Amino acid sequence: MARAVKAAGYPMVLNVVLHRHNIDQIDDIIALCAELGADAVELANCQLYGWAQLNRAGLLPSREQLDAAEATTARWRKRLAARGQDMRLLFVVPDYYAERPKACMGGWGSIFMTVAPDGAVLPCHSARILPMTFPTVRKQSLKTIWYQSAAFNRYRGEDWMPSPCRDCDERHKDFGGCRCQAYLLTGDASATDPVCDLSPDHHLIEAAREEAAQDQRSVHELTLRNVRESRVFCRE
Ligand code: SF4
Repeated sequence: MARAVKAAGYPMVLNVVLHRHNIDQIDDIIALCAELGADAVELANCQLYGWAQLNRAGLLPSREQLDAAEATTARWRKRLAARGQDMRLLFVVPDYYAERPKACMGGWGSIFMTVAPDGAVLPCHSARILPMTFPTVRKQSLKTIWYQSAAFNRYRGEDWMPSPCRDCDERHKDFGGCRCQAYLLTGDASATDPVCDLSPDHHLIEAAREEAAQDQRSVHELTLRNVRESRVFCRE
């Protein structure tokens, strides 16, 4: 398929989802992408929502694996430049190894809306895991939903923010992080995203990193424990 895409003269971006069981193969993965003539490759460590959150122990790489993969990617960038091959490599670090959260969706209800097949309108594609009701295009116009619905106004702007976000200089940059991640980890969708090292819940992220550093023989037990403790999927 990749060869057909190139033969037709289209630009080709390959997206590779990385996790702890394939990240050590990144050298071979990049070599394959180079051989196929990709114009860009997104090496995207899987983010831990929904099913991936339940299976976190089996998916989150260790710090050591991540560092090795980034170093391999850096070596490939140099090698590609030396060859004169124009293939951009984008390495996306998992949120769990960041110091600050991402500006999720550019801010809730700021620039993005998703209309689901059943007509529900969401501020992001994974927002349905949150314990709230979303409007539907079957009953209201998109304009009304965007400007007036409770759901789109719930986390818009800054008034909803708890401490420490409320008084933080970085709130215009990251908007307090991801509401889904906050809910999945703390049970409170209004909490500061625990990925932030200023969050009072940041220890949850540190514990997950610790877990990722453990011997993988215990992965099965950890996954079962995550399923048992999950607020989201037990609720459903
Ligand atoms: S405290 Fe809140 S606003 Fe400040 S960096 Fe952390 S998540 Fe962002």
